[in-house]
Amino acid sequence: MIILKIGGSILTNKDSTESEVDALSLKRIASEIKASMDASPKQLVIVHGAGSFGHPPAKKHKIGEEFDKSEYPQKRLGFCEIQNEVKKLNMYICEAFIAEGLPVIAVPASGFITATNKRITSGNLDLFKNYLEKGFIPVIYGDVVLDDDLEFCVISGDQLIQYLAKNLSPDKVILGTDVDGVYNKNPKTNDDAVFFDKFTSLKDLDTLEGTTNVDVTGGMVGKIKELLYLADLGIESKIINAEVEDNIFKVLEDKPVKGTIISRGN
Ligand code: ADP
Repeated sequence: MIILKIGGSILTNKDSTESEVDALSLKRIASEIKASMDASPKQLVIVHGAGSFGHPPAKKHKIGEEFDKSEYPQKRLGFCEIQNEVKKLNMYICEAFIAEGLPVIAVPASGFITATNKRITSGNLDLFKNYLEKGFIPVIYGDVVLDDDLEFCVISGDQLIQYLAKNLSPDKVILGTDVDGVYNKNPKTNDDAVFFDKFTSLKDLDTLEGTTNVDVTGGMVGKIKELLYLADLGIESKIINAEVEDNIFKVLEDKPVKGTIISRGN
């Protein structure tokens, strides 16, 4: 089984406050996945980020921060608004995948996962496994969930990757984003950034820069932290550039692709 994440950065314009899907990237990614499923059938789980659909409303409503009781109804409505926005992005994604002939089924985190202080503490994956066994491709995404401590919180696609990988023991965990992998600093703003084939510790980063200013879930640093938790459990993951044509197809087919392996080994 493979868990594949498609970053919100490729599917939407994350720097923008507009909710616009990148239809061309979406179609290309869907067709690469379809080509790989045709070449070698496999169990596949897809996780996607919230991109420009989820981050701006999450920031606006300050979901995940403590608040006064009097603000509860307003926060609750904000929670609903975010859930609805990320659901729209998911709908575009599922539409494109179904058009390519991929049997995707949305399993939103807000429907079965709960958290404690922003970390997932419960989420029964039986139905998820059932869909997988029947040949569906479950799709889950960055979402809002109920939180025992904070009432509401945002769960990133990257935390979902970590939770699913821990509980489903996949053969491979792949994260597609809009850069080639992890560098010692943000390659988009630093021409001299040094690329890592293998990343083993946050200490290797020169700067703890996240991503765009709208990301509420930690950007690249948040992503690496989740993957290092996984590495501690002995599960390696790989970050690749999903904007490069054929990279997703190749990585699904075990062909060599430039990227960063996150592991605790040397
Ligand atoms: P996604 O939405 O694809 O999951 P993010 O936007 O959260 O991904 O994170 C990817 C972004 O992180 C890249 O576009 C890059 O600009 C930024 N970034 C910040 N620091 C680094 C780093 N050290 N190495 C690689 N990318 C970094």
